[in-house]
Formats: sequence, structure tokens, C-alpha cells
Amino acid sequence: MTFDSILSAYGFATTQGTKSQGFIAVEGTPVKMPATLIVGAQPGKQILITGGVHGGEYPCIETAIQLAKTIDPKKVKGTILVIHPVNVPAFLAKLQYYGPYDGKNLNRVFPGKATGTVSERIAYTVHQLQLAADFYIDLHGGDIHESLVPFVIYSNLGGGEITEQSKAASAALGFPYVVGSVSDNGSMGAAAKAGTPGFLAELGQCGRWSKEEVEQYIDATSNVLRSLGVMEGTIKSSEVTFLKKMAVMTAEDEGCWYAFKNLEEKVKKGEVLGEIRDFFGNVLREYKAEEDGVLLYVVTSLAITKGDPLTAIGVV
Ligand SMILES: [Zn+2]
Repeated sequence: MTFDSILSAYGFATTQGTKSQGFIAVEGTPVKMPATLIVGAQPGKQILITGGVHGGEYPCIETAIQLAKTIDPKKVKGTILVIHPVNVPAFLAKLQYYGPYDGKNLNRVFPGKATGTVSERIAYTVHQLQLAADFYIDLHGGDIHESLVPFVIYSNLGGGEITEQSKAASAALGFPYVVGSVSDNGSMGAAAKAGTPGFLAELGQCGRWSKEEVEQYIDATSNVLRSLGVMEGTIKSSEVTFLKKMAVMTAEDEGCWYAFKNLEEKVKKGEVLGEIRDFFGNVLREYKAEEDGVLLYVVTSLAITKGDPLTAIGVV
């Protein structure tokens, strides 16, 4: 299966050395994902880039828009498909995590269902493109209520060569922390499980975006595209820290969240990272570090519901 065979049905031009823009309709829903197909002058790998699986992560969405606009097909070896953004309904509704039609977190319903809810159908449509891709780049960031230090997650589910390729390309992104994951319902995990290497990148935070963040994200992604052989130019190598795993702490209560630690702060097992209080200011529970490590993200909202992530420790 190639991008061409899927995308020609939506009216995208598949001639070598051209770029075409349009929308990929999600069947049975009102959703149309803006997309750009860049067919290089020479044949090569097929790369899928998605921005905005989560609608409130702005630096990655603007990065995907700018990459789609500026990449010159004459300088591309292979094909690059950019979706910018994936979750249009969540983006326009200014929602964090969830989609407005079904209240589902799109990054928790992969590989999706052809006849499911709106989020499940979006996931299904994207997954067909993941299956056609040789490499999958999923651009994220801290959501409207999250702060984070740039990091990248690759999946260990593909095993062997797929994991090695994913890890190497993750390092080429040049973000300070690289971590492996075994989660299978996220976008990148579903791709790896189906045999497509890739990663999920995180940059930017708290419902904001800046030109500087977008430039950093474009440079980082371009370096990955060079490392994959689809774009020309010198491949930069940066020093990155490979983490053993990411330990996510989730809320066991609803109420108000008080974080006690800062991003990138080193923490020891047993240290109190924060607490949840009720609406009368009484402490419901303290949350202690389960591992030694460094804090990759910290939720910044006072509001918290049961099952929400609170913070994540990158275990060195
Ligand atoms: Zn996200």
C-alpha cells in the first residue's frame, strides 16, 4: 500500500516533484483533516507526519503547517505526507486531551475503528496511513494544562529493527531526553505494533506557542528527515540522555492539584512530588515518587480529575 493509492481518492496529485494540498475526509463524520502531500523528485521512503492529535498543543500544529508549506518537493527523495492538524474539532473547540464529539482522548483509541465514534474513526483513518508509511513522526507538546521539558518517546513494541530505527531517529530530533515506551493504544504505539517505526515528540506547553519554539521544532524535525534520507543536507548530532522508562503518576482523587517540584528537577524515590486537596483545603493524598529520576512534565492546572496524569518521572 502506498500514500498515492489512498490519497488519489481524495484528489491529491501523486506526480513526482509536486506538492498538493487538500483534505482527508474521515468517513461517517463531519471531520476533514487538512493535509499536504509532498511527492519528491526522486523515489524513496514514505514519511507520515501528524501534528495536533491533541487540539491544544499549538507549537506542533504550527510546525506541521510550516513544514507542509515550506518543504520543496524538488529537494525530497521519497514522499512526505503532513496532516496539520489531525484533530480539527478539538483544535477549534480549544480543548485539552479530548474531542468534542465523543469526549474521547484520540491518543488513547488507536488503532481506531472504521465504524466507531468520531475519535475512533479519525484514529482508524490515520492508522491506514501509518500502515502505508515507512516512518511515522507524531508531533505533540504539553497540553493546555501541562508544562514540560522537550522529550521524545519511541515504542519498544515493534521490536528488533523497528525499535532500533525508532530510537535512532528519536535521537536525531536532538531533544534532551529520549525514552522507550510499551504503551499500545497511542498513535505511535499502534504504528510500531503494526510494523511502522516512529516516535512521539513533545515540545511546548500550557496553551501557548512562540516563533522560537516553532523554529526549534522545524529544525529538529528537518534533522530527522535528513537522517531518514528523505531530505538533503548535513545531519546534526546532539547529546541526548536515553532514559530507561517514563513513570507516569496519575490522580487517584478529584479536586485540586498542588505540585511541589519543578520541571527537570531530580527526585528520589519516596519524595513527595505534590498533593491533591479537596475544595475545603484538606489534603486527600500525597503523591510520592515511585522511582529516582528527573521530572519530564508537570500538570499545571489546579483542577484535577481521577485518572488524570499529574507528573512523569524519566528514570535515568
Ligand atoms: Zn499530545
